Amino acid sequence: PAPAQTLSWFDGALVPAEELTAGLTTHAMHYGSGVFEGIRAYATDDGAAVFRLPEHLERMRKGAEMFGLPFDAAQCALATLETLRANGHRDAYIRPLAWFGEGSFGLDVEGHVPHMMVATTATHVHLNGSRARLGVGSWRRNPADSLPPLKLCGGYVNSILAKREAKARGFDEALFTDRENNVVECTGANVFMVRDGRLTAVEHRDALPGITRDTLLQLTGAESRRVPLSELLDADEVFACGTAAEVAPVAQIEERVYGDNPVTRELQALYARVVRGQEPAWRHWLTAV
Ligand code: PMP
Repeated sequence: PAPAQTLSWFDGALVPAEELTAGLTTHAMHYGSGVFEGIRAYATDDGAAVFRLPEHLERMRKGAEMFGLPFDAAQCALATLETLRANGHRDAYIRPLAWFGEGSFGLDVEGHVPHMMVATTATHVHLNGSRARLGVGSWRRNPADSLPPLKLCGGYVNSILAKREAKARGFDEALFTDRENNVVECTGANVFMVRDGRLTAVEHRDALPGITRDTLLQLTGAESRRVPLSELLDADEVFACGTAAEVAPVAQIEERVYGDNPVTRELQALYARVVRGQEPAWRHWLTAV
């Protein structure tokens, strides 16, 4: 049974989500010194299960390590399962966040209290998710030699700028390209294309190493390589993928309009079976709640 109020895990205890507050000197709020994950749980025949939980927490650990933020992946895993259970969530989006809290206004993280929270929200299945229209904007992705492609809070200012620009131009989402016109990724999803029956994952050093991207590579044995924008525009199908987006067909990039996405739809269905534990060969990706 679901509790009357949604609970979040904060520094070791489950608390009503709306009671949680952060102080105004929170270092992460001033400088972006936090790291987060976006994870999903799915209802399966054997109860709720989290998809690829260790992989998500390992990426989070790497991010925390970048600025010396203490992070215990095992504790975060337990917190995730506890929060899901407490809220009675089955199909859910999970948001762990670790950050430096209150202290002085200095840049040094030392002297700032580290915190961790895990929030979960119920998700609803959209059988006919709309096909995305992407705009190629003017903002470049954070270059990996300036900011590593991890889920560092501050890094997402870059995604916000690109998404705002794309929406102001009438698109749903932004597609980042580099100075040589190679495809990088979207603001919160990786990119694949289908061309002459061949599936290709866009590879780029500035792109987040997506877990959904890795899942699809393992499921299909697709190739992974650098892709110029011209090739993407010439492809038969394009899709974006990510934990939240799952496998999302792309309808349009700038003025290029794509036709039907039959291969994308097949992969969408395969992914849906895998995350719901309906493909025995891949059940090891699920952690029972
Ligand atoms: N790129 C960016 C910038 C993202 O924020 C995300 C979402 N985490 C992805 C790609 C997709 O990654 P994943 O499949 O691990 O969710």
